[in-house]
Amino acid sequence: MTITTPPRASSPSSGFGTRAVHAGSEHDPSTGAVIPAISLSTTFAQTAVGQPVGEYEYSRSSNPNRKNFEDMVAALENAKHALAFSSGSATTAVILQSLASGSHVISVSDVYGGTHRYFTQVAKAHGVKVTFTPEIEVDIREHITPATKLVWIETPSNPTLRLVDIRAVATAAHEHGIMVVVDNTFLSPYIQNPLDHGADIVVHSVTKYINGHSDVVMGVAAFNSEELFKRLSFLQNAIGAIPSAFDSWLAHRGAKTLHLRAREATVNATAVGHALEASPHVIAVNYPGLDSHPHRAIAKKQHRNGMGGGMLSFRIRGGHAAAERFCQLTRIFTLAESLGGVESLCEVPSSMTHAGIPKEQREAVGVFDDLVRLSCGVEDAEDLKNDVLQALERAVAETANGANGTNGVNGH
Ligand SMILES: *Cc1c(COP(=O)(O)O)cnc(C)c1O
Repeated sequence: MTITTPPRASSPSSGFGTRAVHAGSEHDPSTGAVIPAISLSTTFAQTAVGQPVGEYEYSRSSNPNRKNFEDMVAALENAKHALAFSSGSATTAVILQSLASGSHVISVSDVYGGTHRYFTQVAKAHGVKVTFTPEIEVDIREHITPATKLVWIETPSNPTLRLVDIRAVATAAHEHGIMVVVDNTFLSPYIQNPLDHGADIVVHSVTKYINGHSDVVMGVAAFNSEELFKRLSFLQNAIGAIPSAFDSWLAHRGAKTLHLRAREATVNATAVGHALEASPHVIAVNYPGLDSHPHRAIAKKQHRNGMGGGMLSFRIRGGHAAAERFCQLTRIFTLAESLGGVESLCEVPSSMTHAGIPKEQREAVGVFDDLVRLSCGVEDAEDLKNDVLQALERAVAETANGANGTNGVNGH
């Protein structure tokens, strides 16, 4: 009689939800615990010099909870490898530090503020120069030099939700042996898998959708190349910007419901987007799930079922004052930075997340003073829609009347 091994709970061919729940979540072989214990030990016993009992030696180099989380993200991004870091920003820093001094990078203009800060103020200290372009699909070939080693894309962009055709950029970059990185934070692996469209590395601020509960700061990079695994895991250990076992465990727990949260956030953002488009108090809505979006065709090609995700932004009538009032008048949306959690958030990019960028540069990419950014959570669509409509009504009326010492005619 032959003993057959039980089938693995999830395989690369399993659906997304099955992988989210089971990948990296083996039952504990000694107790049968369905959920892995949090492994706080910093060091692991060895039976002889250089022969640890299991696969772990020291927790900076590798830790069971971090490894479980990395295996789960690799499964969700259709990647061979994933490496977790202490934040999305640390992930970016490690990838940039993996480049030799003298390297050149091409980046989309409207990258996350912290990424822009690293590219302009830190990377040059180790001899890496970054060129920014607002239309990377159009002019990437003009910016390529013999020193170009990496292209950095964020799609959708923050906060104007513009999309980049990953395949078009990867094709141009690969002709010159240049690596393509996609920051996939805004959509999560449920809606978009950049490696399937030709990217070499996908990065996430786990802080946002992957963890999804606004209680962990963490980052991750996923990719297929063995050579990248060697280089980046060396830096993960050498630099030591690693997440704790507890944060890895929490983020892993959060990710098990990613598909449910991302679907619900999309339903909610779509409802809010349609309501905003129909409102006389709104100048324009940026949401890749709407047919009015200029890059809707890319969304249909790159996003699961053409989903738009949970993030949108819009320009309110009444200028900056109305935008600020709107964010104070919402009752469910909380005025706060960050995104991707179960709770809905709102903010004014021109004076919060994007305040560091000079006004002309901001406005050139659509970040006007009257722009409001929304992160739709998983509350009920009807409640979110009504909350946005009541806040719009009151914010526009108050600022038109010059209430609160503000004047609706300025701010354009
Ligand atoms: C938040 C964010 C980051 C940075 O991640 P942290 O975890 O805050 O360091 C990078 N990219 C995008 C798109 C983000 O939203």
